[in-house]
Amino acid sequence: MTAEFPNTKTVYGPVPSWRFGESLGIDPIFHRSTCSFNCIYCQLGNIEKVTTEIKEYVSTSRVVADFKEILGQKKKIDVITYSGSGEPTLASNLGEIVISLKELAPEIPQFILTNATELKNPLVQKNLQHMDKVILKLDAGDEKTFNLVNRPAEGVTLKRVVEGIRSFRENFKGSVEVQTMFMPIINSHEISSFAQILKEINPDFVQLNTPKRAYPLSWHRENRGNHLAVHNHKVRNLRVISKKEAIKIQIKLEELSGLNFYSVYRS
Ligand code: SF4
Repeated sequence: MTAEFPNTKTVYGPVPSWRFGESLGIDPIFHRSTCSFNCIYCQLGNIEKVTTEIKEYVSTSRVVADFKEILGQKKKIDVITYSGSGEPTLASNLGEIVISLKELAPEIPQFILTNATELKNPLVQKNLQHMDKVILKLDAGDEKTFNLVNRPAEGVTLKRVVEGIRSFRENFKGSVEVQTMFMPIINSHEISSFAQILKEINPDFVQLNTPKRAYPLSWHRENRGNHLAVHNHKVRNLRVISKKEAIKIQIKLEELSGLNFYSVYRS
């Protein structure tokens, strides 16, 4: 545990985000890493519980108490971001948390980073209604790469993700972005199908990202957030896409999709 990232709280940071400024993390999962994916690059390491189960993982009152404590420290907070120890939409009380934090700090926008596997679920759609921005993770253009990169829970397919996003888009009026982590296994044929999916989703922006640190071999709560430290845990280095290759893919995707891109590779 460090003073900067105390691991006993459901609220952590603020940590600097390359796009959004000082981002205060909210962890509605908290007790163990739990996600409907087990991505090969996940900063949390190997996910302990790979599941699509939607339930209350940590109480709203606990998150609210931790949030009030941080607010009291008068730190600069540009945005609140839901992410944490896994997939935040698996928390059935997510909507309640969003509303409670909005009451306490209405001026701070609230964003969520989700892998979009549960977006067809009416409760999840309802929980996301008060979010200012929803950032959808999408890393693959076909089922084969989807399975290799995201290693989803049983029954989760790329088709299900895209259908969920389509259904969610019909009802959500806030801003929607897609965040993509390109891994070296993406192939040129897949770029076209990926661009096609992006076009269909029609997000306001697409963010192209790269893993910033090595893959921890097991879960440690300290690894929440966007910081570079891995806190001395055992790690495996990741093979990442080259900058040249990433820019080539980005240009191709821009041409094929006609969408707006942000990229860590071109900044
Ligand atoms: S979706 Fe996010 S939390 Fe889940 S395994 Fe992938 S990177 Fe980790």
